[in-house]
Amino acid sequence: MQVAVLASGSKGNATFIELDGKKLLIDAGISARRIRQELEGIGQRVEELDGVFITHEHGDHISGLVTLTKKYGVQVYSRPETFRAMSCYRELPIECINPIIDRVRLDRVTVRAFDIPHDAANPVGYVVQGSSRCVVATDMGFVDSSLQEMLEGARVMVLETNHDVEMLKNGSYPYSLKKRILGARGHLSNRDAALAVAGLRQRPRKLLLAHLSESNNRPELARETVQAVFSQQGINDVELYLTDQNQCTCVQL
Ligand SMILES: [Zn+2]
Ligand SMILES: [Zn+2]
Repeated sequence: MQVAVLASGSKGNATFIELDGKKLLIDAGISARRIRQELEGIGQRVEELDGVFITHEHGDHISGLVTLTKKYGVQVYSRPETFRAMSCYRELPIECINPIIDRVRLDRVTVRAFDIPHDAANPVGYVVQGSSRCVVATDMGFVDSSLQEMLEGARVMVLETNHDVEMLKNGSYPYSLKKRILGARGHLSNRDAALAVAGLRQRPRKLLLAHLSESNNRPELARETVQAVFSQQGINDVELYLTDQNQCTCVQL
């Protein structure tokens, strides 16, 4: 399995997963041109994508979608409500639209959508399951027990560590925006992400910290916070990786 976070953050998100011969993208929130370039950088071709799975309709998750479908004919999968809420919905070629509720099977790989709490039409995270398992979960206000269950057993996990709560509270964002981010349908803090992973029965081998805020977080702070929670709980079997808005983070398993 290869997992490559091509870009991650509030300016654009896209994650490539290759498993059992299938090549998938989770979100297309950077330009199709950049997706092509980043894929080339890891020896992959955009023409070979078997599908792109969209988590929700916010611009940082779909901005490259029109070109990706029109130019390369990539099949798009998402919840029906998410398709309808996309600003670009009417520009998508009809033959590329695949509404899914719960799961879709592509040969030996099953992709399962699961609910996440976020201020979008019907947002999801994805479990990609074949001979190995990867979970992508970003843009969520909190992790409850049913969501925690979805995170179980992933070998590679891409998980949101959006902000440091103190940095956010003391930062320059207006009160309404702080409230939104900290709210139940906002974004996940470094510490809450760490606690979610620490609480798993089966933790991931590789944990990729994703969707970091440029204003309310720092990469090293995210890593230190997660590391500190893990150390307190005697967890030393999870490798941490930082993802970046402007460069690809690639892991193999
Ligand atoms: Zn969002
Ligand atoms: Zn986002």
